[in-house]
Amino acid sequence: MSLYDLDRAALAAALVGQPRYRCDQVWDGLYRRAAPLDQLTDLPAAMRDALSAAHPGALTQAARSTADGGNTVKWLWSLHDGERIETVLMHYPRRTTVCVSTQAGCAMACDFCATGQAGFARNLTAGEILEQVVQARQSAHPRRVDNVVFMGMGEPMANFDRTWQAVERLTADMGLSARSLTISTVGLTPGIRRMAELELPVNLAVSLHAANDELRTRLVPINRRYPIADLMDACAHYVRSRRRRLSFEWALIDGVNDRGDDAQELAALCAPLRAHVNLIPLNPTGGFMTRGSPPQRVQAFAEHLRQLGVNATVRANRGSDIDAACGQLSAATPMAPPTRR
Ligand code: SAH
Repeated sequence: MSLYDLDRAALAAALVGQPRYRCDQVWDGLYRRAAPLDQLTDLPAAMRDALSAAHPGALTQAARSTADGGNTVKWLWSLHDGERIETVLMHYPRRTTVCVSTQAGCAMACDFCATGQAGFARNLTAGEILEQVVQARQSAHPRRVDNVVFMGMGEPMANFDRTWQAVERLTADMGLSARSLTISTVGLTPGIRRMAELELPVNLAVSLHAANDELRTRLVPINRRYPIADLMDACAHYVRSRRRRLSFEWALIDGVNDRGDDAQELAALCAPLRAHVNLIPLNPTGGFMTRGSPPQRVQAFAEHLRQLGVNATVRANRGSDIDAACGQLSAATPMAPPTRR
């Protein structure tokens, strides 16, 4: 079990026989400094060795690729049971964001998403989620990781408790503000409602992609269970109770959801919630043959939304040449990674 899966009481138990202050020292090292055990040289070596023997790191690097001149880094990790996940670190001129996975695979089966095409393996533990942030922090050094987005492999709301445990550690112990965290969901309304009851003002992103039930059920099968009216009701509840910005993600698919009617339907859903729209030009994946909207259509769709009073931005496609962009994470071993260390 990852050291990051232990709460303070469990860590104290793992340090039985040591003076009390050692527990605080280790906790501080793991979270505030976010340093690997072997760098916590203020701890006795024998203690570090015993801890790392009992709780080896959860993530073993299977591959590391970079793109965008080194500003995008993707890791493929293998877990203790052989499952694989990916993490993406993105440096922008004024901020650095890490995108973490919450499950190995995904059970939501959205056709256009590589993770959905591959199917579900298992939930990640909070420690496995947190270690992705720790690794990214070390790699980013001396830059800081400003934002954590739960937008990697898996559906965070289908692994709610462990995802939330990671959120609490990131805010209470690692010093990130809840405002710098974003949880993205395919639209599991019970999860959105639960999140609305919790104290931390985390940003909520909803992968909408279609604004009518017929089309949305085709693209996002779970819509059959949680149709748009229910989803909008849960979103309204979140916006009212947490006062955080809501955004809708919309992958633009050629001739499918990029027409004038689509923009109008979408704008009608956004207005009462003052939702922001993140347009994602569809990234190619092996199992979905429909193309993304051409660039002019993406711009025209964004412009149309703006004319309808919607705040819309087009998301930059970071790392698409190393299959690190939205919807491309499948934890497949790269054939010839551009860089590998
Ligand atoms: N399961 C969660 C977290 C994943 S976030 C969710 O669905 O929100 C990944 C985002 O990329 C989601 O908005 C997803 O719908 C989007 N996406 C999936 N496949 C894509 C593709 N091929 N091109 C662009 N975006 C895609």
